[in-house]
Amino acid sequence: YVPTIYGITPTYARLAQKADLTRLSQTLMLVKNFHWIVIEDSETKTSLVENLLKESTLKYTHLNVKTHKSKHSTVMDVNICVFKTETITTSWYCASGVEQRNVALNWLRGHLKDSDDKRGAVYFMDDDNTYSLKVFDEMRKIKKVGVWPVGIVGGMRVEMPLVTDGKVSGFNAVWKPFRPFPIDMAGFAINATLFLLHPEAKFSRKVQSGFQESEILKYVTTKDDLEPLAENCTKVYVWHTRTQKPSILNPKKLKHPPLPDDH
Ligand code: UDP
Ligand code: MN
Repeated sequence: YVPTIYGITPTYARLAQKADLTRLSQTLMLVKNFHWIVIEDSETKTSLVENLLKESTLKYTHLNVKTHKSKHSTVMDVNICVFKTETITTSWYCASGVEQRNVALNWLRGHLKDSDDKRGAVYFMDDDNTYSLKVFDEMRKIKKVGVWPVGIVGGMRVEMPLVTDGKVSGFNAVWKPFRPFPIDMAGFAINATLFLLHPEAKFSRKVQSGFQESEILKYVTTKDDLEPLAENCTKVYVWHTRTQKPSILNPKKLKHPPLPDDH
């Protein structure tokens, strides 16, 4: 028996989107029993993402929800990030992917309720990270919540849980080490059943940047319950890589031969 892994990936339109999603989808095609939940940050589903998913061999669910950042947004906190850049930590309330991940979790709850097999692991995946196939083998061992190191994040080569006698005893984080769970989104996965047991578990716009991980984890685990994986958190199987924003000269004016509309 190989538990299903539900990968939850928010994504948004930008120059490198198709490149990032191509790289990620072709990694995921090598993972057994994987279900990719892709949520576009857009008013409507795009043909770029739709075609990419169709052309993959992946089992997938394609959703969309737009993050509203306008002045008239009902999500009032977002305005704070729009207007203050110097006075407080930038992007204090500007976490990306909040609404998208919540929509995915609600879809997942409905899906699990309807299916005989309620087992599985839930993994929140940025579309521009780098994933070793080994990280997926690790998360299939999870009972409740598994954790492991993440490379190139939080100002460190590796941010990782510290392990004593097979239990998580602390974290080596230097960026906001006072976070309840000072761990990156790529550094943990959660037993899917816990989202049925905790229907209230969700991400929130009301927390400061870097606290999204702590926000979701607080519903489903305590520090004492964390299960250290990747050889007691001594191995790095995932990296928080970030694709550099490309600079294209005069993107509208350059003459191209005809391109498909989702190039
Ligand atoms: N994202 C999104 N809408 C946005 C910005 C980001 O849906 O306006 C997605 C993005 O595609 C990624 C995740 O949210 O899958 C995290 O964003 P990003 O990788 O930019 O965050 P960082 O790695 O810089 O912390
Ligand atoms: Mn990223």
